[in-house]
Amino acid sequence: MQTEVRFIEPTIPLHIFDAERAGPTALIQAGIHGDEIAGVHALEELLEEGVYPDQGRLLIVPIMNPGAYRARERKAVGGLDLNRSFPGNAQSEHREQRLARKFMDLVEQEKPDLMATLHESWKRFHADLQPSFAQTIVYGVQPMPEIVGRVIDRMNETKQLDYETWSPHHYPVPTSSTEVIVDRVGCTGLCIETWMGFDLRRRIDMQKQIVRYLLEDLGVLNSKV
Ligand SMILES: [Zn+2]
Repeated sequence: MQTEVRFIEPTIPLHIFDAERAGPTALIQAGIHGDEIAGVHALEELLEEGVYPDQGRLLIVPIMNPGAYRARERKAVGGLDLNRSFPGNAQSEHREQRLARKFMDLVEQEKPDLMATLHESWKRFHADLQPSFAQTIVYGVQPMPEIVGRVIDRMNETKQLDYETWSPHHYPVPTSSTEVIVDRVGCTGLCIETWMGFDLRRRIDMQKQIVRYLLEDLGVLNSKV
């Protein structure tokens, strides 16, 4: 196994793990919105626990927008919404536009098979209420990628409360990282949304579980079942 840490910016480490056996590439990111912290903590805990791929290549960016994360706000103080800044522009006066371009460079170089971004929301998902995100796997293309249904079934098999029920949610957002990257790279791009009304510990555990299920479904991690 090979491990490397690269820095997209001084406070944005990119953790790279290569298994002995070739296989798919997965890119998992969090902290694009700084008030949605469960995904950041989930990825940091997975790194501390020594997550590594059984096959293929695993890329992890725990905090995409450190300024927003430090402020515990959706955006950095005085900044733009990074998740509405894609594909970005290296020459822009706006930091988020330049940063989005760096993430685009990364995905265009890596061409991941799966890209997942970990989010959270206060709005409970209801098919009649748009937008409403929690608890969902959000995708922007039709038909729904099959991995979404399989991972949601697994999450719902292990839910502790009925209120934790997960749903798929088709909700394309044209300038979001997911949409633009899926268009450019042709990968499966997903947003994971936990409901912020749950206890932080439970949200972190759900984010970790869903990341593991995504990686198992893709074949980057061997199934523990
Ligand atoms: Zn978000």
